[in-house]
Amino acid sequence: KKIVVAIDGPAGAGKSTIAKLAAEKLGYAYIDTGAMYRSVAWKFLQTGKPFDEDFISGLSKTMLIDFKPEAKINRVFVDGTEVTDAIRTPEVTAIVSRVAAIGAVREAMVDQQRRMGEAGGVLMDGRDIGTVVFPNAQLKIFLTASVEERARRRYAEMVAKGQQVDLQQLQADIAERDKQDSERAISPLRQAEDALLLDTSDMGISEVTERILQLVQE
Ligand code: C5P
Repeated sequence: KKIVVAIDGPAGAGKSTIAKLAAEKLGYAYIDTGAMYRSVAWKFLQTGKPFDEDFISGLSKTMLIDFKPEAKINRVFVDGTEVTDAIRTPEVTAIVSRVAAIGAVREAMVDQQRRMGEAGGVLMDGRDIGTVVFPNAQLKIFLTASVEERARRRYAEMVAKGQQVDLQQLQADIAERDKQDSERAISPLRQAEDALLLDTSDMGISEVTERILQLVQE
């Protein structure tokens, strides 16, 4: 039977890399909910308007977000336009937590997420999947790693793409985003009581993926 697997955790813990790999092996769909909040932030930045909760809420309700999984990347589309790279810019990253703290935006996204996951056979990663989106998920994993290790990984990823980054700045940005995500009033980042904690600070990608595959098949 194909279940719902909820994978939550802080920024840069490797959720998307691991979830995508595990989904491929299981023949499950992979839903990156962070990409959905990033898409709302991207669409808002496109308008050039000042930050306004009602305006952003309105945008989030009329957006069509689509995923198209490919071998190495998970392509993301907003109203038919590809935004795969556009939603990963520093501008989007800097504002996404403020956008994700808006209640009506979360309602719109959670609605879509529940529809995408209701049939089962899905790995969904985010901050509130096990606590809010699918509180009855058959398997919940809370994936984490030290902030230093998470910053190092993200740094290596960005350098490999030829991007210029400062490790200390990256670590500060990750810590700030975690703080905002954990301290917001609505659906804050936290480990569900029945989630399994996986600290990946000293684990490799394949080791973590194998562990998750085992858990799904148990
Ligand atoms: O996963 P990622 O780092 O791409 O997520 C970007 C941001 O989207 C997070 O920092 C958080 O503010 C928001 N988010 C959320 N709830 C989720 C997934 C992401 O609030 N389920």
